[in-house]
Amino acid sequence: MERIRLNDGVEIPAVGFGVFMIPNGGETYRAVLDALKAGYRHIDTAAAYMNESDVGKAVRDSGIKRDEVFITSKLWLQDYGYDAAKKGVNTSLKNLGMDYMDLYLLHQPYGDVEGAWKALEDAKKAGKIRSIGVSNMTPKIWNSFVPRFSTIPSVNQVECNPYFQQSELRKILDPQGVRLEAWYPLGHGDKGLLANETVVALAKKYGKNAGQVILRFEIQSGIIVLPKSTNPERIKGNLDIFDFELSEGEMEQMRALDKGKGTHDPEAPGVGEMLLNNYRIHE
Ligand code: NAP
Repeated sequence: MERIRLNDGVEIPAVGFGVFMIPNGGETYRAVLDALKAGYRHIDTAAAYMNESDVGKAVRDSGIKRDEVFITSKLWLQDYGYDAAKKGVNTSLKNLGMDYMDLYLLHQPYGDVEGAWKALEDAKKAGKIRSIGVSNMTPKIWNSFVPRFSTIPSVNQVECNPYFQQSELRKILDPQGVRLEAWYPLGHGDKGLLANETVVALAKKYGKNAGQVILRFEIQSGIIVLPKSTNPERIKGNLDIFDFELSEGEMEQMRALDKGKGTHDPEAPGVGEMLLNNYRIHE
């Protein structure tokens, strides 16, 4: 598995297994065990997914050494502000049953973001987190917060796929060595994207499926991808993208698919309140 060096020197496997919307109490446990068996060494969870405990249990029961698996979790909005975020970090560690996390993100860019970020910086200094980052920051949101941070995030996890290539955001992130992590890397299974004629022609040429071509394009663009599947063949297949390479001309064809727009607009009015109301992870 290809690994990427982040701007703080921490190495992250380029493909991760996302567990959004998989229930705790068995399903996430089995999915993570299957993913680890298939070769994944990077799991992406979040406090708001409410399944950190299954992730931790699966890693422990897998027999794979803790330092061979890269664990990401995320702080939820209810725990923003310095003191609440400090507690939030400890709660994630407790739920995971781990004494450190490899990467911890501010899941959403609303509320006391600066206080929460300071708590992540301190938790990193205390050895509880190896690398810290943000999520869902558009160029405008990034520019409103990050210049006031004393450390630059190592990643920004945002919606990204061939139809929404985040080119404006990358103009800000790339010069600072900040890696983009793609959520919805397959467009959340967008049938139009998976049937796109450029994608399908490249899949035929390389003997791969459409999803593998899309993930390969993203990896070759320097992006960390978090594909999700509940199908054992596709779970395995989504890792099997390191034995072919798109040419520069083919990369250009894929870049031409960009529509510059995704499904989620973090700048839309009321999004922060809506998310906070939809995900109450504790009182
Ligand atoms: P996705 O990976 O883009 O799409 C998953 C869909 O594509 C599923 O319907 C899956 O169906 C299908 N699929 C998977 N592999 C395929 C292949 N090779 N060919 C064709 N279809 C394929 O999107 P996602 O699952 O919704 O999101 C991925 C992860 O991103 C989440 O688990 C989470 O970790 C992260 N995320 C983060 C945020 C954030 O705010 N930070 C927000 C959303 C998501 P099958 O199961 O049938 O294979």
